[in-house]
Amino acid sequence: MKYHLVTLGCAKNTVDSMRLERALRNGRHTSVGTPDEADLLLVNTCGFIDAAKDESVSVVRALDEGRKPGQQIYVVGCMTQIAKDEVLEAVPTVDATFGAEAWDDIAASLGPADAAFDIPEPSMPSTSIPMLDLGMPSAYLKISDGCDRPCTFCIIPTIKGRMHSDTTERLLNEARWLANSGVRELVLVAQDSTAYGEDAGERDGLATFLERLSEHVPDVPWIRLMYAYPGRVTPRLAETMARLPNVVPYLDMPLQHGSDAVLRRMKRPSLRVARQSIEAVRSAMPDVTLRTTFIVGYPGETESEFQELLSFVEEQQFDHVGAFTYSPQPGTPAAAEGGALSERVKQQRYGRIMELSQGIALKKNRTMVGREFDVLIESEHPTESQGGGLVVVGRTVRDAPEVDGLALVRGEFAAGSMVRVRVDGALPYDLLCTPVGTQGVSSPSFNAASLPFTGR
Ligand code: SF4
Repeated sequence: MKYHLVTLGCAKNTVDSMRLERALRNGRHTSVGTPDEADLLLVNTCGFIDAAKDESVSVVRALDEGRKPGQQIYVVGCMTQIAKDEVLEAVPTVDATFGAEAWDDIAASLGPADAAFDIPEPSMPSTSIPMLDLGMPSAYLKISDGCDRPCTFCIIPTIKGRMHSDTTERLLNEARWLANSGVRELVLVAQDSTAYGEDAGERDGLATFLERLSEHVPDVPWIRLMYAYPGRVTPRLAETMARLPNVVPYLDMPLQHGSDAVLRRMKRPSLRVARQSIEAVRSAMPDVTLRTTFIVGYPGETESEFQELLSFVEEQQFDHVGAFTYSPQPGTPAAAEGGALSERVKQQRYGRIMELSQGIALKKNRTMVGREFDVLIESEHPTESQGGGLVVVGRTVRDAPEVDGLALVRGEFAAGSMVRVRVDGALPYDLLCTPVGTQGVSSPSFNAASLPFTGR
């Protein structure tokens, strides 16, 4: 059967889509690039916030309205896990729904595909979990799923269940296979990456895993860690990150707020704990890039609590800040709390925190002007710059894929190249760079199209 898969939501959901694709391809079903060519339309939904649910429903509706006779629509993933009825109410003609993690069930429901669509068995070990290829020389490695934390605003533990780590052996196989495919950057993701191994009773399981991973794929120059939980970034983890040559000095640690009163209501670690983790990371890696995210407009957030958040951002001078306006998740404790703020106040506060953090980001980017960095080139084709001449897009080690800034490099370089550049201009999020030479190989083995399950 030919299927067309649409993935909504976050990077972790995209990793889930890869898992689904793997199950489908094992059943000899083949991916097609447009809905028109498909026998089956699949939507992997996001149900994390209301806006994501609305988007999920409108995508399903649009596909349903445009579908040809005989085409089926399956709606799967986070939204159908928690709000299947809302999907069916909005689009009753959907053929089937499946919750999150039901990838094998979806494949099983389709049965084996026609032999005419037979494809070669992929070379990746069948036991290893799938990963994400972004069409760039980077890949996500999902090390665990689910979450045991009690954050009051979050529906993830209900959707994904308890934290469960993938086995180190499977992840190492996966990483090896990716490295052999030419991937130059592995981005470790999970709901809470610092919980890795806890379900097996390990302490500092993530530090141990990083040591093994670094040794196993020494040919991957950048290993990047996302979604650390404050208080779980131990001195040993920070010291391990600092010591391993291919683990980059970068950490994403969502902190959610900068007021202890709000953090208490959110059932999140205190500012003292957050500061300890930041201090551990900064003292082990003085050049570390810190990314964090905050929620503004949590129920009952007062102006002075919001001011505390701004002061915390000012105090810590984070390199990258992402902010979200709070939106209630049915079924979470926060949704039942009083004190909802108006959209106008939430949007105002969002604007204020983004203005502050953008100023900090620009100041930091300006300190990079005149310095040299390695840039991992992502774009497959150069584009014409406004000032004339060709530029390619990449990232320094300070920027994670999809969420942080870019480095615009003059010249023509292949995707996967590691290029030494001098920064000669700074924008709030992006850098303008001139090459000063190339470092390492131009990754001749990298070929995004050769990676199976790319979802593109
Ligand atoms: S740690 Fe993250 S995924 Fe887990 S409950 Fe809190 S916000 Fe949700």
